Amino acid sequence: MTTVETAPIAPLAWQPPAGAVWSGRWVDGASAMPVHDPEDGTLLGHVTDASPAEVDQAVTGVAAAVAAAVGSGAGWAAWQRREALEAASRLVVRHHEVLAELISREGCKTVREARSEVSRAAETLRLSAQQTGLLTGETLPFSDTARGTGRLGWYTREPVGVVAAITPFNDPLNLVAHKLGPALAGGNGVVLKPAESTPLTALAFVQILLDAGVPADYVAVVPGTGATAGRALVSHPLVDLVSFTGGFRTGNEVARAAGAKKTLMELGGNNAVLVLDDADREAAAQSVAAGAFGVAGQNCLSVQRVFVAAPIADRFVQDVVDATEVLRVGSKSDPRTDIGPLIGEREARRVQEWVAEACDGGAELRTGGRREGAFHWPTVLTNVPARARVMTEEIFGPVLVIERFDTLDEAVARANDTRFGLQAGVFTAGLESALSVAERLRVGAVMINDSSDFRIDAMPFGGPKQSGVGREGVRYAVEAMTEPKIIAVRLGG
Ligand code: NAD
Repeated sequence: MTTVETAPIAPLAWQPPAGAVWSGRWVDGASAMPVHDPEDGTLLGHVTDASPAEVDQAVTGVAAAVAAAVGSGAGWAAWQRREALEAASRLVVRHHEVLAELISREGCKTVREARSEVSRAAETLRLSAQQTGLLTGETLPFSDTARGTGRLGWYTREPVGVVAAITPFNDPLNLVAHKLGPALAGGNGVVLKPAESTPLTALAFVQILLDAGVPADYVAVVPGTGATAGRALVSHPLVDLVSFTGGFRTGNEVARAAGAKKTLMELGGNNAVLVLDDADREAAAQSVAAGAFGVAGQNCLSVQRVFVAAPIADRFVQDVVDATEVLRVGSKSDPRTDIGPLIGEREARRVQEWVAEACDGGAELRTGGRREGAFHWPTVLTNVPARARVMTEEIFGPVLVIERFDTLDEAVARANDTRFGLQAGVFTAGLESALSVAERLRVGAVMINDSSDFRIDAMPFGGPKQSGVGREGVRYAVEAMTEPKIIAVRLGG
């Protein structure tokens, strides 16, 4: 297509309450901020722009509820948490289309992509519900040491207390579910600060949790900016654990503001895929194009760098270009669209600038390179200078770099030559080379005969280096959001 066709504007089918939630009820904060559709700038609604004082009220309320539950010994029991999370999962399924519309309208996903995210969020809640039955401890080996004689003891897993959840714009529902589901399964109270561009989905999700029976004083949501609401939340002294997903630079700021608190961080990636000369070339090209350009590349698992064996490189680049040029760029609401907008025109201009910088340095533009408003066409570059930002940074846009390699050692070294380490892919028919490459890549997960862009919600998720701190994935998040507590008995006699 030559220009982006925007769809006729329909009002949102469901308007979430405009305010925030704290102290168990919806309240309007003193200030409000607008939420726009990034595709055409349509005003979708207003939400509270929470002030530090309002964040303090939210955290204090949740902390009081959690402390009262611990103090009285009659908290929100595990079976009640399981039932509420199961009910929430069913409600997400029931409100599937409304949630998909919210995700797509305020964010950058096509309707198809948004629907798939809603299904995943229901799954994340179902997995969270399952975890409540697995919050077990074990007995302790007192009799294995002379000093332990006459003692008996065990540990249980206890909630950490108050979890602060900070989420990004690109999966506005499922990444919220990945924090609130495990936090609640573990028996914690949780205060959420969603991304400024996508708060409506988060507010709808919190309403679903409340409708499902999550006690109103265990969950709060404070929409607002990162600099004000986010900062006030992570630095609050009554917050026990910060669970953050976003960019590395923000992660650093969050760590500084949080101080000596437990933190979990899911950060960025500029993921590599290796295509060996014995790979199914056409299947690899299809998978790489899908993995690079889904959600217009705004995905932490996007394929950004491909290293392909020299003997098949020319044909592989052509296959990827062919697979890219059939993708339809267009309105998110058109079911035929493959690639929607970036989250804003500023981001699209940044991507365009990084592509221009690579081309000025000698890179070849094989397809794409065009921008219109917030839309950036899927772009394939080859012969990219090693220090161009499209190679070294996380581009978070629809840009793919393909480079050729002569030896496997060289390919592994170049794939590892990055500050990030989220996921990687390797395409080959050879078991030995697949496993050898997998062993040598310094990443959180290696997908064999698949692109880096694959995840199930039960996987331990995250990576080394600047891709994060700790692991998410429901079971692993529940583990991180609970801690052992020992009870030991000194037997008489
Ligand atoms: P971002 O870092 O700009 O913002 C993330 C969140 O942090 C937002 O809610 C923002 O308001 C908040 N924030 C900003 N400054 C803050 C501060 N000083 N204190 C507290 N909170 C603050 O990220 P984004 O642009 O929304 O999302 C894109 C980034 O997220 C990419 O880097 C992507 O790789 C990463 N991401 C990672 C994963 C993962 O699981 N590893 C998943 C999705 C996205």
